Amino acid sequence: MSETTSNGIPAQEQQPPGLTSKMSPRPDHGEQSWVGRNRLPGMKALITGGDSGIGRAVAIAFAREGCDVALSYLPEEQSDAEDTQNWIEKSGARCFLLPGDITDEATARGVVDTAADLLGGLDVLVNNAGFQWARREHGIADVTTDQMDRIFKTNLYAMFWMTQQALTHMGEHASIINLSSIQAYDPSTPLIDYAATKAAINNFTVNLAAEVGPRGIRVNAVAPGPIWTPLQPATKSGDSMPKFGLNTPLGRPGQPAELAGAFVFLASPHEASYVSGTVVGVTGGRPVF
Ligand code: NAD
Ligand code: MG
Repeated sequence: MSETTSNGIPAQEQQPPGLTSKMSPRPDHGEQSWVGRNRLPGMKALITGGDSGIGRAVAIAFAREGCDVALSYLPEEQSDAEDTQNWIEKSGARCFLLPGDITDEATARGVVDTAADLLGGLDVLVNNAGFQWARREHGIADVTTDQMDRIFKTNLYAMFWMTQQALTHMGEHASIINLSSIQAYDPSTPLIDYAATKAAINNFTVNLAAEVGPRGIRVNAVAPGPIWTPLQPATKSGDSMPKFGLNTPLGRPGQPAELAGAFVFLASPHEASYVSGTVVGVTGGRPVF
């Protein structure tokens, strides 16, 4: 830890996947601010990476809107998952915890089937789990096969497997929401492999929307800008944290809570009934076109 700068974030570093309890300052997931208005009554959602960061904010908002949730995450994130579960249960919704490494195909498919079993159906899949690696000095020369395997399997293979499996449980009015990124539009050189997955996720989103639209299923994506989550100190250099998010028109990083509104809107079969195949940017003003 060192001095605080204008984004309020001191230098800090963790090993992946990173834990919320080790972050300074703690992110805002809407624990004190999200007011439910019964916008997702009786719905059932699986959120991958729902233990922390954007996934936790989405889980809390969904729960307060009347939606039961299942959370997928890595076993070493159990403490984060239990914190999220506590917030969800306080809002009266059910929350099922499904630890497992979804870069393994059987695990990924099993998580979806178990979630649908426990929830009693599946209305929304949020493909939010993601991985990146930015501690690189020489650009593409530093990209290893192990890193590519972890990044492509987490961000793309798991999304394909879980989507295929979810579609066996989904009916009319269901929807899928994928996590894109500002990196799909304005890639950073140290994130060359990660950025490529996010561009692929945009392409996948519009293509799948065309395929499943006739079944009444919508597919969309959210493209965040720089958001203060465990992924950042766990995958970037600690010294870069005091500058994180200053490269936006709003001049600061976003909080996970600031993403939740986009997800609640896209998940709602009423509010977003004619919204499919699109990407909603939540970037602090950086362009997503
Ligand atoms: P986060 O670390 O809180 O969430 C990522 C989650 O992915 C982890 O909590 C973990 O549970 C899950 N995950 C990773 N590998 C997994 C595996 N093998 N098996 C099971 N789960 C696994 O960070 P976040 O920033 O909230 O990330 C959520 C999504 O948002 C990611 O897809 C990320 O690429 C995207 N995103 C984040 C930012 C940002 O600035 N934070 C910007 C653009 C996009
Ligand atoms: Mg986590």
